[in-house]
Amino acid sequence: MATVAEHEFVIERGEDVWVYDSGGRRYLDGTAGLWYANAGHGRAEIADAAAAQLRKLAGYSIFGDFSNEPARALAERIAGLAPVPDAKVFLTTGGGEAIDSAVKIARRYHLAQGEPERVHVISRAQAYHGTNGIGTGVAGIEANRAGFGEMLPAASRVQYDSVEALREEILRVGPERVAAFLFEPVIGAGGVLPPPEGYIEGVVEVCHEFGVLAIADAVICGFGRLGSWFGVERWGVEPDLITFAKGVTSGYLPLGGVVVHGRVAEPFFSRPGNVFRHGPTYSGHPACCAAGLANIDVLERDGLVGRGRELEGELANVLRPLAAHPLVAEVRAGVGLLGAVELTAETRDRLPSALADLQLLARRQGVLVRPLGAALAVSPPLTVQAEQLRQIGEAFAEGLDELK
Ligand code: PLP
Repeated sequence: MATVAEHEFVIERGEDVWVYDSGGRRYLDGTAGLWYANAGHGRAEIADAAAAQLRKLAGYSIFGDFSNEPARALAERIAGLAPVPDAKVFLTTGGGEAIDSAVKIARRYHLAQGEPERVHVISRAQAYHGTNGIGTGVAGIEANRAGFGEMLPAASRVQYDSVEALREEILRVGPERVAAFLFEPVIGAGGVLPPPEGYIEGVVEVCHEFGVLAIADAVICGFGRLGSWFGVERWGVEPDLITFAKGVTSGYLPLGGVVVHGRVAEPFFSRPGNVFRHGPTYSGHPACCAAGLANIDVLERDGLVGRGRELEGELANVLRPLAAHPLVAEVRAGVGLLGAVELTAETRDRLPSALADLQLLARRQGVLVRPLGAALAVSPPLTVQAEQLRQIGEAFAEGLDELK
């Protein structure tokens, strides 16, 4: 707050890949907001669907035996798109709540299976899983955990790019004590870190070998960002649970959820006493679900789901030449419509505000990018055109030359 209180940057409206500030100036939204505006801004049909639902039934919870039509339709639609058999869907109001729900489902699943000791959760160094209690507790970005004390004692983190490290950690903790392993297909907020070849297949296999539930966190990677509905399809794996949010409504209203493999959902459905005592008030909010359904219609109709993969090469071509700049340590791109340009440690030591300065220099050229650790991230709406990707590259190149 100390640094931004005097100069907030207020966004007033949006249209496709463009957003406008309160002074009427136009910017290319190089980050799709916080990685969510997959369908682009200003889609009247999504707004209309939500508004029509608000007039019909503004809110009715899906607690106990209650339900509402948009929640039923959205859960069924998402279950049908999910890459797991007999999927069930638990709806939440966002990604962090989805993470907490998924971990609680995993622990209760093991309890129902007669393995109450399985409570330990493993995640990856550099992982980001939201701001709720469990997501904060398992987070791999140290700075996000610092200062809160232990929020989830039975959790540990492993090197983010090593299958062997996961196997060793499961063996160290004791397989009979490990409930779940959480992974983002491409680590997002931790710096845009695509997995090494074989990593995703490898960790899911290790989980299955030890009876550990594999939870894919597709909050960023889903709904087209990697070119498929849940991001994991490109590796052909079948996680036990998948968390989603963001692109499910393209950010038009808050919504998230957990896809649960039929085998993991089964004890909750077949045993009457096995109640999952967990239900946020706004789970399955009718207007949010109506927005989600309209957004999925748009993604399907406009062929946007595949764009994350179609455009990944183009984005990589635009960003990779920046690696030759003396201030740049590394460019990461090539898996999905996600990229990052990392500055050298020397640059960041010499100019402690280098990332914020570069963000402002790009903004002055009409392009929004966002600092993430030692890098600046790019993740535009899936409607972005090749020429607009080049504009992002040019803003970076000129900003880097101006950075002093
Ligand atoms: N998981 C991942 C991978 C995320 O990137 C985020 C948010 O950025 C979350 C979970 C948390 O989602 P939310 O901010 O909707 O709570």
